Amino acid sequence: MTSMSGTPFVCPPPSLSTLSVDGTDARFPVRRVYCVGRNYAAHAVEMGHDPDQEPPFFFQKNPDNLIADATHFPYPKASKDVHHEVELLVALQTGGDDIAVENAFECVFGYGVALDMTRRDLQGQMKQMGRPWEVGKAFEMSAPAGPLVPSTQIGHPSAGEIWLKVNDDMRQSGDLNQMLWKTSEVISILSGLFTLQPGDVILTGTPAGVGPVVRGDRLHAHVEGVGDLQITVT
Ligand code: MN
Repeated sequence: MTSMSGTPFVCPPPSLSTLSVDGTDARFPVRRVYCVGRNYAAHAVEMGHDPDQEPPFFFQKNPDNLIADATHFPYPKASKDVHHEVELLVALQTGGDDIAVENAFECVFGYGVALDMTRRDLQGQMKQMGRPWEVGKAFEMSAPAGPLVPSTQIGHPSAGEIWLKVNDDMRQSGDLNQMLWKTSEVISILSGLFTLQPGDVILTGTPAGVGPVVRGDRLHAHVEGVGDLQITVT
């Protein structure tokens, strides 16, 4: 038995996943991690889909898949084709059901830079068989993330460069204004499918140029007005 606050647990209780907040010691507690698929037209095309025909769709990673203030990404097991996907992360401080687009930004605490690391070979096999994407997406350490910047400081970025360099070579380059479904629309649509709550995090999709990483690669992710994330693949 493990005891915490007098409550007996039959095994050690999981620790809370948290993200750092720029300029403060306070932490952002993470409840869920939602991800948007194919939210930039050029990336949808490179994955073999027609961006004009598809409504947004979602999958989840686990809160403990996040690496806060990541400096490295350990190459995962069971894959030989792990891809980088740079994304704008949105952190919610309130939630609700059926949130109107015009009220969606009221839920947002702030923004960050994150990577949706993907075991592309496993994801591809699952796609082919019409099976869920978990093994391709929701693995250990699959979501390196930088510190959050509160929206009170930067507003709600809807345009600006989003890019990723591997060993100083530009691999992904896009603009937040290319998101097919805008942040406020993503929040609204998600809230029609799930009850959003404080601590929920959304990875809003990746621009074109996804590709494989190998051990030793240095990844530099950037979102204009939000920040940078620099990690080494180990
Ligand atoms: Mn992604």
